[in-house]
Amino acid sequence: MSLPLRRTRLNAETPFAFTCERCSRCCRHKKIQVNPYEIARLADNLAMSTGEFVRRFTTNGGTQLACNDDDTCVFLSSGGCGVHPDRPLVCRLYPLGRHVAASGEESFSEIEPEPGCTGVYGEERTIGDYLDSQGARSYMQAADKYLSLFCTLYGIMRENAGIPVKRKAVKQVTASINASAHDQVNDMMDIDTVVSTYCRENGLPFPKSPDEKMALHIQAVEAWATNYRR
Ligand code: SF4
Ligand code: SF4
Repeated sequence: MSLPLRRTRLNAETPFAFTCERCSRCCRHKKIQVNPYEIARLADNLAMSTGEFVRRFTTNGGTQLACNDDDTCVFLSSGGCGVHPDRPLVCRLYPLGRHVAASGEESFSEIEPEPGCTGVYGEERTIGDYLDSQGARSYMQAADKYLSLFCTLYGIMRENAGIPVKRKAVKQVTASINASAHDQVNDMMDIDTVVSTYCRENGLPFPKSPDEKMALHIQAVEAWATNYRR
């Protein structure tokens, strides 16, 4: 579901300020996408494995936070976001959206605020300042790394399915590959399982922080992809 936009083609220097009043109206009727790094952060917050987190709190093949029956986010409680320090990137950016073109060029858009949003807008700072204040930078870097990794994996699946190189759209690829290949990619996205196997095979200590886990996870999947193409 795409959200209505107020302004587009913004950049880190664009004047912008926003103070959220935490009314939680925007934590409902949303599809909150999560990548393996965000899952590792949330699982760490809840002191559980990434596999357990995916089973209990996600949907759509582990790519989206689950919702309650009333379509509120599964982590919304009477006190607000129950995982606030480790909330996903889209929650940190709101009411902004981030876009990365195929060329790598980054831009931002401003989403129409939720009806009744009591947040206070201003122009005394910049979008870059807002990203810093929300702790969004490490999440943005993780999103870029995983996008690149997904492209590599889908490239391999496309080659396996015999899809011409020019047909690059992910939708076309996913429609053409078989279920077991999807399962294989899903299995590779479970950070704890992949990293623990990688550490065991390479005599490495299992990392403690989500950032260290992500670094090893990407290393492990890239190594798999390199070996696969040999
Ligand atoms: S609707 Fe606006 S004020 Fe309320 S939590 Fe969301 S961003 Fe904050
Ligand atoms: S993770 Fe937190 S901030 Fe994000 S939608 Fe859920 S309750 Fe709201």
